[in-house]
Amino acid sequence: MKILVTGGAGFIGSAFVKIAKERDYEIAVVDKLTYAGDLRRLEAIKDLKFYQSDIIDRNAIKKIFEIEKPNYVVHWAAETHVDKSIIDATPFLTTNVIGTQVLLDISKEFNIKKFINIATDEVYGELDSEGEFFEDTPLKPNSPYSVSKTAQDMLGRAYMRTYGLPVITCRPSNNYGPWQYPEKFLPVIIYKAHKNDKIPVYGQGLNVREWMFVDDNANAVLQIMEKGKLGEVYNIGSGFEMQNLDVVRLVLNILNKSDELIEFVADRPGHDFRYALNTNKITSEIGWKAETNVINGFSKTIEWYINHINWIETKLNDLQELWKKVYLK
Ligand code: NAD
Repeated sequence: MKILVTGGAGFIGSAFVKIAKERDYEIAVVDKLTYAGDLRRLEAIKDLKFYQSDIIDRNAIKKIFEIEKPNYVVHWAAETHVDKSIIDATPFLTTNVIGTQVLLDISKEFNIKKFINIATDEVYGELDSEGEFFEDTPLKPNSPYSVSKTAQDMLGRAYMRTYGLPVITCRPSNNYGPWQYPEKFLPVIIYKAHKNDKIPVYGQGLNVREWMFVDDNANAVLQIMEKGKLGEVYNIGSGFEMQNLDVVRLVLNILNKSDELIEFVADRPGHDFRYALNTNKITSEIGWKAETNVINGFSKTIEWYINHINWIETKLNDLQELWKKVYLK
């Protein structure tokens, strides 16, 4: 069975490719290699077909489908950084909405078994300190990023409803692990702590996220691809909720650094307070549960970044530009 993986040179897509390969699937990756894509993530994987292509390029995508004739499409490719979407929403709407439309249209022309559409927990909007999101909770996205992901999510629903395309939607929580592009919160903290630089924390650091190790998410999506019901939506969460400030303190503690490195900066505009997913559906229907607890997962991730500081440093020009724009005192 062959899977066409979009965004397979990205953080989670590459973890998915590794796990699917171990399970003997044939894989073809389509990735534009934006600033966030990096082929080093795939270096260790053998017998991989790779196409450098933009998902909005209809002709190129159609050719890839003609050559590969995939059984499954697992759609990870996206613009993914909320802060960047606040600076400029255009690439988010282009890739996440129009790019998804192109993939859905072309999948419709080929006889695919399943199209796995990767959305996010951010489609639901925010929670206060109580409650959790169920798959049928109304969607109320707040950032340009989450709005573009909601449009992607709903387009998948529309193509299932309207054209009978076999779509399944996944809404994962906050992922972390090796190879995450270092604009995201955990690698920023690890890098800055390692360098003894001030660690920027938005607002008072009280925002809560549900932290999931990347391989757990990749496994969940593969199992949903194999066992999920067409037209259904599955939340994918770990149950490990943590406030941002506690995440920073935990990293500092593991690295044996002082809390004095913490520096509070002006809050992100429209910053969602808390996300938390109810995962009864994936547990009961698919039989999946997250395996990695945050202490083990964070420790593994920190160790990986400390051993790959050179990799982060190849991205420093881009990062410093971004940090100047988003971390305001
Ligand atoms: P990432 O930014 O690390 O990787 C995205 C990949 O998509 C990159 O390799 C990039 O080159 C590629 N890409 C971007 N635009 C493209 C285009 N127009 N055409 C082809 N390829 C393109 O992202 P990630 O963190 O691995 O996230 C993967 C998916 O999971 C995304 O859809 C994201 O919205 C979703 N998601 C992520 C998280 C998380 O915590 N990281 C949580 C929930 C959902």
